[in-house]
Amino acid sequence: MLDYTNQDWKSRASELSFRGQAFIEGAFVNAVSGKTFDNINPATGEILNQVAECDAADIDLAVAAGRRAFEDGRWSRMAPEGRKAILLKLADLIRANLVEMALLDSLDMGKLITDAVTVDAPGSAHFFQWYAESIDKVYDEVAPTAPGDLALVRRVPLGVVGAVTPWNFPLDMATWKGAAALAAGNSVVLKPAEQSPLSALRLAELAAEAGVPDGVFNVVPGFGATAGQALGLHMDVDCLAFTGSTQIGKRFMEYSGQSNLKQVWPETGGKSPNLVFADCEDLDAAADMAAFGIFFNQGEVCSANSRLYVERSIKDQFVEKMIERAKGMQPGDPLDPASKMGAIVNERQTQGIMRFVEAGKETANLVAGGERVTVDGKGCFVQPTIFDGVTHDNPLARDEIFGPVLSVIAFDTEEEAVSMANDSIYGLAASVWTDNLSQACRVADNLHVGTVSVNTVDALSAQTPFGGMKQSGFGRDLSLHSLDKYTALKTTWIKYKP
Ligand code: NAD
Ligand code: MN
Repeated sequence: MLDYTNQDWKSRASELSFRGQAFIEGAFVNAVSGKTFDNINPATGEILNQVAECDAADIDLAVAAGRRAFEDGRWSRMAPEGRKAILLKLADLIRANLVEMALLDSLDMGKLITDAVTVDAPGSAHFFQWYAESIDKVYDEVAPTAPGDLALVRRVPLGVVGAVTPWNFPLDMATWKGAAALAAGNSVVLKPAEQSPLSALRLAELAAEAGVPDGVFNVVPGFGATAGQALGLHMDVDCLAFTGSTQIGKRFMEYSGQSNLKQVWPETGGKSPNLVFADCEDLDAAADMAAFGIFFNQGEVCSANSRLYVERSIKDQFVEKMIERAKGMQPGDPLDPASKMGAIVNERQTQGIMRFVEAGKETANLVAGGERVTVDGKGCFVQPTIFDGVTHDNPLARDEIFGPVLSVIAFDTEEEAVSMANDSIYGLAASVWTDNLSQACRVADNLHVGTVSVNTVDALSAQTPFGGMKQSGFGRDLSLHSLDKYTALKTTWIKYKP
């Protein structure tokens, strides 16, 4: 499928049928209220399908189904090999349906099909496989006690895990939460973002086909203020894993306090700095990756490298390189493999990005992009945009724009660069470019973020934890550490005659 043409993708897209009902206890069902909402393709403005507008009543049904499944042990007490085999099968089914899964995300929220089919969809399969393989390899502990005492310290599943996910990587966010929570033996109720529910609904169907028992993986589409809030406030949800904005992450902490003290794991916004030092030897590689770091996925990436700090002696030269790259990444039809950037998720987000851009034109030097555009006369598209001469206190340098907008700031010393980089309410990720090993290590040590990438951007793998510090939240996805979120430590102390 990697040699598909635009026409091939369009014809595959036209053959798709979209799931729109909630998936509860192994079956697709309408919302209890019978309500639906329009699901829109932001690249064309066309309605893709009608999606069940679930609310508290549907969340109740899904949580009850999850609870029943958890209590009777159909998944929670299945032997590890059994859960492993089923999740491996699910990984295979995702691979077998790779084109469909990729198309669902691309049509739903505007990302490039090329990225969806090479990054998002294979990533989902990989992460399910990775957690599946971990299931019979993670051991528990025996505490050091005296003879006559045997103290087992085990990780046990929590029960019903609620997951609320954003629209920027719909399938992968559902996977990051779902794969780890299921591997740990929980039941899951997932509420995908209202902008992009399609891939999560299909994932639930594939999970059932793979053998995940009824009630164990439920997907309930709907809006945040209704379905999302109901999950956050539910008295019988044990854990709430969230990825989204900082503002809503704080809400989930409040919901927990107002209800049953469920564990909440927020993974929220970012304003990640990218520090380029003059002794970086390969400035072209640095510019390629800096452009990728901010323009990939239209800049709708929580860890996007949206602040570029460049040492003053190379700043102008580096900005020239960035302008060149921005010019080469103009938005186009997401289903055209020749396109370098896709559509912004919806009208509202596009307008929000353009407000930052218009204000920026008054307060900084626009050196690339700066316009909203259409493709074939339609859709939500924004040019890759670069502002130079941004002051560190400009909203362009402080607020999460969540779009293809880069702010460039010059620095003179390492201390100044680090202190500006750290002067943010966020602390998700950062990048450092230098061939001076001591400087790289020192700067990496001093940045208050969850992931520092040295001579690359956005380093990410199944094997390493992903998540933030400060108001980027404290949940960690990926790696075995993510299993900590979905398990409780349980001590069983046994007395015997020594
Ligand atoms: P959002 O916070 O508005 O929505 C995220 C999810 O929360 C959606 O499912 C939404 O329906 C739900 N929600 C919204 N309001 C709610 C409410 N009042 N109660 C309960 N649920 C509610 O964010 P978004 O616009 O979908 O996504 C963009 C944000 O996500 C950005 O800020 C970005 O940084 C962040 N993000 C973070 C990460 C990360 O891992 N740290 C990853 C991706 C995106
Ligand atoms: Mn959509």
